[in-house]
Amino acid sequence: MKAVVNPAEPAGGLRGDTPQAVAVPHALRDGRFWRHAGRPEPTGETYDLVVVGGGRSGLSAAEEWLLVDPGARVLVLDNHDPGDHGGPAGFGTGPPVRVMCDKESFGADTLLPVGRWDDLPLAARAVGDLRRLRDDPPDWFPGLSQEDKQERLAELTYSGFLLEVCGVHPDAERFCRTLPCAERAYDGRALGAVDAWAAGYPGFGGLGLDGRGVGGLGVGRLSRYASPAGPRAGSRRAAGRALLRPSSPVVSVRHADTSVVVAYFDGHLVRTVAAESVIMACWSSVVPHLVPDLPEPQRRALRQAVRLPVLEASVRLRGGRARTGRTRWTGAFWCLTEPAPEGLRLLATPCRSELGPVAGAAAGRDELMATPYDRLEDGVRDQVTRLLGPRTGIESITVHRWGHGRPMAYCRPWHPFYPDGPFPAEVARRRFGRIAIAGSDTEPAAGGEAAVVAARRAVRELTA
Ligand SMILES: Cc1cc2nc3c(=O)[nH]c(=O)nc-3n(C[C@H](O)[C@H](O)[C@H](O)COP(=O)(O)OP(=O)(O)OC[C@H]3O[C@@H](n4cnc5c(N)ncnc54)[C@H](O)[C@@H]3O)c2cc1C
Repeated sequence: MKAVVNPAEPAGGLRGDTPQAVAVPHALRDGRFWRHAGRPEPTGETYDLVVVGGGRSGLSAAEEWLLVDPGARVLVLDNHDPGDHGGPAGFGTGPPVRVMCDKESFGADTLLPVGRWDDLPLAARAVGDLRRLRDDPPDWFPGLSQEDKQERLAELTYSGFLLEVCGVHPDAERFCRTLPCAERAYDGRALGAVDAWAAGYPGFGGLGLDGRGVGGLGVGRLSRYASPAGPRAGSRRAAGRALLRPSSPVVSVRHADTSVVVAYFDGHLVRTVAAESVIMACWSSVVPHLVPDLPEPQRRALRQAVRLPVLEASVRLRGGRARTGRTRWTGAFWCLTEPAPEGLRLLATPCRSELGPVAGAAAGRDELMATPYDRLEDGVRDQVTRLLGPRTGIESITVHRWGHGRPMAYCRPWHPFYPDGPFPAEVARRRFGRIAIAGSDTEPAAGGEAAVVAARRAVRELTA
């Protein structure tokens, strides 16, 4: 979910998934919540639609419903505080113009414009390997058909392709490792080789594979095996307004005789509202904890939707916008830095990519949630100083922590059922009585407007 932070607003501290925002969802997950919660108290409120989750999908669902029925009473419940809700103004797009070969990867920091390979602080053989990958890569799979080559790529990660197929020096792999982080929220050790080829990364030019101008990863080559590109939704305007209730984590959604009863925690008590219809637009993995009556296969499918952890830091500098270009870091915690009106923004993708995107997201999230804010802030100060110099005046640092940040596209080699299916999301998003399931997890794709497409589908299911 993205919102623009007002530059005049006092900044600093931790936002996003703060300890307060995740306390109730985690207590539910761990089976602790109902032990101390007390009896739910009805508010007496009734709605035509209650939406669980006020992210992009939830708000789109509310808008879409109000387009169908402008007079409807619609309530959106979300667990975040209003101040925690939005991310920073967001990162720009386009490739980095500089690369920081950092001390975490190569023992010392060297900042270079992208493409100036003569000065790379890598072993000479690694620089030669990189040049070959970029300028004159051979056909690594001579004699194989196009389809068989793609099949081979679909079984490999990008790092595995570089090291095992191309046989590059480890420094060359290390240099390329963070190429996908901003797009994917994981690095080359988790990125499928077929997705690296689709993105136009170095190494594939000699394979002679056809690329068609579609795809969701910028350069846009399409392979049967590349991750699905996200759908486009097109904009529409709501004809009315929904009521948004923040700081209200939902704890239970159940069918009753003539309505659906939605229970949420208001900070003191569990309260209930009645709804004719409910759209679950929270993270799919949370839904089984909230809707206990769902059939077991659907619960299992919902649990498989793993989100990737993401951190953004917004640094307010005394001199305003930093004089630096968009910079990729090769191994430091914060993997991308870019100038912003307030100073500088940093992006981190804490997925433990060496475990693959699925296991790596869970492990990275656990580590992130156990990392105190002070450590994150120290890391920001360290990298800002390394990039801009020791006399840089930092006025404030705001870290936006998203444990369940980026939806994950199905991708090879990690999802063997892709592209032929059947897909867990097809089971996960089944309507359950008067409860429909939205959220971008139910339309797994790389980028695009899955959140909106899922919202429209959920509204259609309940209003058709
Ligand atoms: C830092 C960051 C940067 C991103 N950048 C990009 C980008 O550049 N391009 C791109 O395509 N995508 C990006 N994404 C992903 C983007 O946010 C998602 O694609 C999209 O917003 C997902 O929408 P959603 O509604 O499905 O989920 P979310 O926006 O995550 O909304 C789900 C909501 O449900 C709430 N919720 C969870 N449990 C409960 C509960 N029990 N009760 C009530 N509410 C609950 C959550 O708090 C959350 O607000 C980024 C994500 C992050 C975190």
